[in-house]
Amino acid sequence: SPRASAEDLSDRIKVSFEFFPPKNGDMENQLWESITKLAPFQPDFVSVTYGAGGSTKQPTLKTVSRIASETSLAPAAHLTCVGSDKASVDAVAREFKSVGVKHFVALRGDPPEGVGAAYQPHPEGYANGAELVAGLRAIDDFEISVSAYPERHPESPDFATDIDMLKRKVDAGATRAITQFFFDNDLYERYVERVRRAGIYIPIVPGILPIHNFGQVARFSKLCGTSIPDWLARRFDGLEKDPETRALVAAAIAADQVTDLVERGVDDFHFYTMNRAQLVYAICHLLGLRSGETPAVGAAA
Ligand code: FAD
Repeated sequence: SPRASAEDLSDRIKVSFEFFPPKNGDMENQLWESITKLAPFQPDFVSVTYGAGGSTKQPTLKTVSRIASETSLAPAAHLTCVGSDKASVDAVAREFKSVGVKHFVALRGDPPEGVGAAYQPHPEGYANGAELVAGLRAIDDFEISVSAYPERHPESPDFATDIDMLKRKVDAGATRAITQFFFDNDLYERYVERVRRAGIYIPIVPGILPIHNFGQVARFSKLCGTSIPDWLARRFDGLEKDPETRALVAAAIAADQVTDLVERGVDDFHFYTMNRAQLVYAICHLLGLRSGETPAVGAAA
């Protein structure tokens, strides 16, 4: 049972945390409070997202640079190729490298009009995730993670097309896939089976999204093709004006999801933290991880 296994899981469980770059001083404080709170769990890496539409590298660069210089955590920089030519993307990658980045989460990105609009590759650019992975590989021996979609990417007509893109990314040098968030573990398990049947053996790390705001998550899910099971919507029903209970319910849901995945043999988790530590902290604790005594922030050599 999950209870029995929670006792001695800590050796086998690996976690990573995703953050987004702050837009102002208050957000920056919130980000660093969250990093400081979660760092003692000794994540495999912490990743920082890249602006939507390939907007700007500066906030991501600043954040990964600070993680590299002020903490003992391994930063991973997300990088997209939307709207840029290859030379500019390569230059950004080299800049990340110069501040200590050795790991990229390589993504195509969404069109500037938003998720779901028709994607137009830059005429001189990398056309998709696979081409970007190859481009990064040509620069250095980076660790490269890519995306995976348990419910298909909305632009993929079928699973075969979707998994073929994942295969191309692996062939180009990706060594880990992180999934889009999902709430139905059966769909994740079925997807991993399909991926293995296609001869792909890299880790398919589940991306776990603790639900801080159900309305927002439901709207975003529609755009990116994640299904919201009826039972999930029902659990939040009637709590619109009760944030404290919502947080408790969200923690219970995420805890259920990860303990069920552990039962299914998953031992590596990527958390979309939304720059908030509390729910993720509670879930890591339930997974048997302990924050211990070692401060990971302020401990850089
Ligand atoms: P790709 O891997 O190139 O393609 C994804 C899928 O789309 C493929 O499976 C393929 O089948 C299908 N596809 C692509 N092109 C076509 C085509 N022409 N015809 C048919 N099917 C096609 N976005 C950001 O802007 N910044 C981030 O930091 C960021 N981080 C992310 C992290 C994770 C873990 C994930 C899962 C997503 C992230 N995204 C981010 C969102 C991502 O940019 C979008 O989902 C984007 O639409 C696809 O990028 P990709 O790298 O998955 O694309």
